[in-house]
Amino acid sequence: MESQTLGLSIILPIYNDAIAVNRFLPQLLAFTAQLEMNCEILMIDDGSQDDLVKVFNSNLTNLPDNTVLRLIQFSRNFGKEAALTAGLKESKGALVSMMDADGQHPISVLSQMLDLIKNNDVEVVAAVQNSRQNESIIARIFKKCFYCFMQDTHRYQLTPNAGDFRLMTKKVVEAILQLPERQRFMKGLYAWVGFPTIFIPFQAEPRQAGKSKFNFFSLFELALIGITSFSQRPLRWISRAGLIISIIAMIYGLYIVIDTLCFGKDLAGWPTLAAGIMFSTGLQLVCLGLIGEYIGRIYEEVKHRPLYLINKQWDSSKQK
Ligand code: UDP
Ligand code: MG
Repeated sequence: MESQTLGLSIILPIYNDAIAVNRFLPQLLAFTAQLEMNCEILMIDDGSQDDLVKVFNSNLTNLPDNTVLRLIQFSRNFGKEAALTAGLKESKGALVSMMDADGQHPISVLSQMLDLIKNNDVEVVAAVQNSRQNESIIARIFKKCFYCFMQDTHRYQLTPNAGDFRLMTKKVVEAILQLPERQRFMKGLYAWVGFPTIFIPFQAEPRQAGKSKFNFFSLFELALIGITSFSQRPLRWISRAGLIISIIAMIYGLYIVIDTLCFGKDLAGWPTLAAGIMFSTGLQLVCLGLIGEYIGRIYEEVKHRPLYLINKQWDSSKQK
C-alpha cells in the first residue's frame, strides 16, 4: 500500500486493555473493510502489562485487503496524551481519527464523522460527549470551575466535553505536531490550533471489558496541567486577591486607630488577630503552591525529555 494513497489512519491508545481491544478490533476491521479507501489502524501500546502482541497477531488473520494493522509498543507507560501524540506522529493517512480502544467510542459516530468531513468544508469533526447521568454534583462543579479557569482568552474556545474522539485532516495533525510542549493537554492543543470544526454529540458506550484508568486524582492532575499550560488567570487572581486583602486590612487598621484615638476604646481583639494571621498565612501558602505549580511545569518543559520511547514495532504490511 502506497503511503500517498492511504485514506484513513485510526489511532487507538491502549493501556492494559487487551481484552477490550480483542473485542473492539474485529468490529473496527469489519468497518474499515467497507470503506472505499485504504486504512491503517495504529495500536499504541502505552506500556501495557497484558499480552497485546497476541491480540495483534490473532487479528492478522481476518485483516481486510484495504487495511494495515500496526502496533507500536512504548518502553513503559507514558500516559494517554503521549500515546495519542505518538499515533499522530506515526500516522500516514490523509484523514486521521483517534478513538478509545475500549469500545466506548461508537464506530457509527466515526462513520458519521467521515460523511461530515467529506461533505462539508471543514478540517475537523469532533465528538462531544453527552453529560453522564451518574455524574456527581461535585464532579459537575469541578468541571464548571475548570472551564472557567481555562478560558483565558476569547481568541480560541475550549468546547466542554469535546475530547480526543475526533477526525482531522493531515493539515490539522501537522499543526498539532508543531506544538513543542512536553505537558500535552490535548483538549487545549486542539482548541489552540483552531481550523473549521463541526461538533457532533454522542453517547459513550459501556466499556467492552476492564476498568477506567482515570480516577478523580489523575483527572485533577490533568486539569492542573491544562490550567497551567493554557491559562495565567490563577496568577492574575493571586495579585488581585493580594490587592483586595491589603485594602481591607488598611481600612480595618484605620478603623481601629480612629476607634482608639477618638472614642478611647481598649485595644482588644486577639482572636481577630489570630484568625487574621492564620487566614493570611494560609492564603500565602496556597498562592506560593500555585506559583510552584507553574514553576514545576516550566522545569518539566526545559528538561526537553522525549515524550515517549518506543521499544518495538509491528506492521502487518511488512509481515505479508
Ligand atoms: N489509556 C492509555 N494510557 C493510559 C491510560 C489510558 O493509552 O495511561 C487508554 C486506554 O487504554 C483507553 C483510553 O486511553 O483506550 C481511555 O482510557 P479509559 O477508558 O481508562 O478512560 P475513560 O474512558 O474512563 O475516560
Ligand atoms: Mg474508556
